[in-house]
Amino acid sequence: MDITSNTETYGTPEPTAVTLTVEKGPFIVVTGHDLKDLQLLLEQTEGKGINIYTHGEMLPAHAYPLLKKFSHLKGNFGTAWQNQQKEFDHLPAPILYTTNCLMPPKSSYADRVFTTEVVAFPGAVHIDEKKDFTPVIEKALELGGYKEEQIRTGINGGTKVTTGFGHAAILSHADTVVEAVKSGAIRHFFLVAGCDGAKPGRNYYTEFVKQTPSDSIVLTLACGKFRFNDLDLGEIGGLPRLMDMGQCNDAYGAIQVAVALADAFGCSVNELPLSFVLSWYEQKAVCILLTLLHLGIKNIRLGPSLPAFLSPNILNYLVENYGIAPITTPEEDIKALMKQ
Ligand code: SF4
Repeated sequence: MDITSNTETYGTPEPTAVTLTVEKGPFIVVTGHDLKDLQLLLEQTEGKGINIYTHGEMLPAHAYPLLKKFSHLKGNFGTAWQNQQKEFDHLPAPILYTTNCLMPPKSSYADRVFTTEVVAFPGAVHIDEKKDFTPVIEKALELGGYKEEQIRTGINGGTKVTTGFGHAAILSHADTVVEAVKSGAIRHFFLVAGCDGAKPGRNYYTEFVKQTPSDSIVLTLACGKFRFNDLDLGEIGGLPRLMDMGQCNDAYGAIQVAVALADAFGCSVNELPLSFVLSWYEQKAVCILLTLLHLGIKNIRLGPSLPAFLSPNILNYLVENYGIAPITTPEEDIKALMKQ
């Protein structure tokens, strides 16, 4: 399902604070990108004393009006896909896997893994197209959840995250944003976005965001954001400095914001005080990168490794024509990007 049909079906995302605390009692964790599966599960669990927590790319679901009206959609559990084995270890709850990047389940929780759509694991119960989630619901009641409330945190110790800054929410403040840029209150925008992975070097993105100057705005999307989305970066003129635009599918929204800002300032996207800092993994990030290049976006920073399809010839072409560059250190990259 693409971003447009998500918005048509579930309403326009609204900025929403999401707790990382897990309440006591039975619950189900839903991971992946598929909002339709989440909606059906919310309907089937309503009034049954079971809470639902999102995981990974399902986090932006909390911002959609049609989904947030379910009071048992409680919060977000855990971070990005590569941490599944650590986060799901001995979980007293079932996990429903919808389309997502996945880690093979460990034996400590394999008996509580349920899959649907194209996801499947040997031995895991698969929910077919009839979408009867009864086996997941029964498992949640059988396991019973935590005996006491669990106050959990993100990677940086924050106890909540905020999501729902889709292009409509940001552009509803377009006048404030344009004024803040004109007055110098906002000097730069960084889109720090992309996929996450387990390789060392990805804490670059945490450090980068921490070091962005207080007169800059950080937009983010996709699961790379779990490296920093629990940080409190404060506000500029009532606008939060860190805005989560949603899933990787929402890259379209980031382009809309960039194009609208360029229109407001009568310049091209490349002339805006806007830099793209992408976290790379050989998955959907491929599509995001190719889309940005197709739109003529220049000076993209890419890391922690370069895409496998970048042969020396292609890389030279992209460096010469698009100014694409690998990440270096947060200090040097911020300095260089703010000068462009
Ligand atoms: S954002 Fe990328 S790495 Fe993360 S789950 Fe989606 S496709 Fe996978």
